[in-house]
Amino acid sequence: MPKNKHREVNPKKINDAAARRLQYFEERRQEIVDTTRQLVEIESPSDDKRAVDRLGQFLGEKFSALGGGVQFHRTTDFGDHLQVDFPIASGKRAGGPILLLGHIDTVYPIGTLANMPCRVANGRLWGPGTLDMKSGIAFMLHSIAALQAWGELLRHITVLLVSDEEVGSDSSRHITEELAKKSEAVLVLEPSYGLHGAVKTARKGIGVYSLKVTGIAAHSGLDFEKGQSAILEMARQIIKISDFIDFKRGITLNVGLVQGGTRVNVVPAQATADLDLRVARMKDAAFIDRRIRSLRPFNRKCKLEVTGGINRPAMERTAGVAALYAKAVVIARELGFNIEEADVGGGSDGNITAGLGIPTLDGLGGVGEGAHATHESILIDELPRRTALLAGLMEKA
Ligand SMILES: [Zn+2]
Repeated sequence: MPKNKHREVNPKKINDAAARRLQYFEERRQEIVDTTRQLVEIESPSDDKRAVDRLGQFLGEKFSALGGGVQFHRTTDFGDHLQVDFPIASGKRAGGPILLLGHIDTVYPIGTLANMPCRVANGRLWGPGTLDMKSGIAFMLHSIAALQAWGELLRHITVLLVSDEEVGSDSSRHITEELAKKSEAVLVLEPSYGLHGAVKTARKGIGVYSLKVTGIAAHSGLDFEKGQSAILEMARQIIKISDFIDFKRGITLNVGLVQGGTRVNVVPAQATADLDLRVARMKDAAFIDRRIRSLRPFNRKCKLEVTGGINRPAMERTAGVAALYAKAVVIARELGFNIEEADVGGGSDGNITAGLGIPTLDGLGGVGEGAHATHESILIDELPRRTALLAGLMEKA
């Protein structure tokens, strides 16, 4: 976890080229705010294809104006996924391809802006999606524009903005995997961690399961003994599942939804439970997955059915991830700040790319708080140096 010390670096150590770059983005602070605001004001809930496509189109035009080759991966159930390729301008190749990864969908329904308008107050930009993760998309646009202006876009950059990250990335996952495999490193523009803006070098893997118990219905007064209660069986299963929790190994299981029964005077024949599994290490994921799948009914007259599985692998802090973080530390120090790292329970598409063994650095997006909540906001002062950090990583990752 981050050591919550956010020291500024001795100005004498700030290198001149880095200082000029930082100055460049400081002068464009308002433009970065404006871009973020434009993106926030095009609402894009995951389940509204037309709305998400509107934002995708808007961004396609923005990236196209920078000279990117834009393509949409069409989907019927979600917004189209946006891929943009920036080939190397001159013959001067400096490094393998880099994937900038993010998502254009949010968790907020259409109309949220009416109650939660995008606005500047107390040094922050507030509004739905400011942090998760429209500011991160603004960083992509402004860092690419800057590298082009400086004549320093010397490696192939691919941008992938998916439309279904907030609902599990089922429709985009194969595209993310395919592009990650071609890349030397993946930079994920999801929100940073905490108000000190730590990057994320480890994320827990996620599994989602559904348990269904089928018992035998009976009148609770006339035929109680003929019934086999699915709810009672489920209660015992839930206690059993809770035994799999192991904080030391970073394994948690949450039974978040339970349903069952039909009426108070009927022995219930049906019960279902949905559970969310988080694991820090993939080897534990396989182990717990086996344990969940091998659950057997306590009451032999009840039937138990388990569906689901691991949805996102754990992002482990591999040597590749650590090396990428080390580069971020050096670049940030040259820009005059220290960047911490954090391991977090929440997953992102960075889990997918890291799970393939591709060096991945997550949490490179905005610095703020309140993702998915009414106080979602980003710190405006952080925008220039975070954009400069991304530009630096696009060169040196
Ligand atoms: Zn996100």
